[in-house]
Amino acid sequence: MHNHSHESSHHLENEDVKNIGTAFFLNLFFTIVEFVGGAITNSVAILSDAVHDLGDCISLGMSWYFQHISKRAGNKVYTYGYKRFSLLGAIITSVVLAIGSFLIIAKAVPRLFHPEQPDARGMLLLAVLGVIINGAAVLRLRKGHSINERVVSLHMLEDVLGWLAVLVGAVVMLFANLPILDPILSIAIAFYVLTNVYRNVKESLQIILQAAPAAIDTDDVIRIVSDIPEIESVHDVHVWSTDGQYNIMTVHVVLNKEKSLPELHELKEKIRRKLQSVGIQHVTIEFETDKEDCSMEGCCRYYSQTENL
Ligand SMILES: [Zn+2]
Ligand SMILES: [Zn+2]
Ligand SMILES: [Zn+2]
Repeated sequence: MHNHSHESSHHLENEDVKNIGTAFFLNLFFTIVEFVGGAITNSVAILSDAVHDLGDCISLGMSWYFQHISKRAGNKVYTYGYKRFSLLGAIITSVVLAIGSFLIIAKAVPRLFHPEQPDARGMLLLAVLGVIINGAAVLRLRKGHSINERVVSLHMLEDVLGWLAVLVGAVVMLFANLPILDPILSIAIAFYVLTNVYRNVKESLQIILQAAPAAIDTDDVIRIVSDIPEIESVHDVHVWSTDGQYNIMTVHVVLNKEKSLPELHELKEKIRRKLQSVGIQHVTIEFETDKEDCSMEGCCRYYSQTENL
């Protein structure tokens, strides 16, 4: 995956940070326009989108900021480095989005029963602007190379769809007397936002609670290591992730016969290569023979169900 020379990957990272910075300022500008526009047009659907975009701003701003922070090397306090700091961004964004969405729903629900007429022409204007601004960001970021850029561009594509829904709603309200469409759109957008909040919070909490990374099956990993011919069995297996991308594992490996240090070195590299290929970048291995009575053998006890694999 990382075949670029140092020079070109450094260049790509800078480009990545710059593109996310541009997306941040565009979003910030547009969010202000939306809150003002939502108040002027008396449309809760526009306000719902404004809250959504406020969340986008915070999350873009954070990922822009943490892009720098997370590259800092570890030190004696944060020995893993600063990668997990990016989770803070996800959680803060989620809290803001959840509060905002509930406030909007509380405002929109009464309007289901007593619809107020929004200014459909103003809504249409804002929706067209929303489609253009988010569409431009998608086109710009789609050419990006980093995962981060692709994730952001995918998200903005969803935003374009949200604005298209408001656009269609506004056109309908221009011709038909259906003011109830406004709170319906508003609540639909708020629920969509809350679904994403739930997914992000769940993912972040799993990482904080030291769950095995979603893309890695602990049983498979145990099998990969214990299938190596020189290895008798493994125990005290732990797999976790600092930030959802950088994955860490510790394992005790029981050898079927004693080995010299150079042989152990070779075996260690072999294990590391195999685990690297399934996405575990940081592996700590402890070697032992079955003559040793390992005090960590009962640790956390998960391996015991799988030790005979
Ligand atoms: Zn968005
Ligand atoms: Zn052990
Ligand atoms: Zn353990």
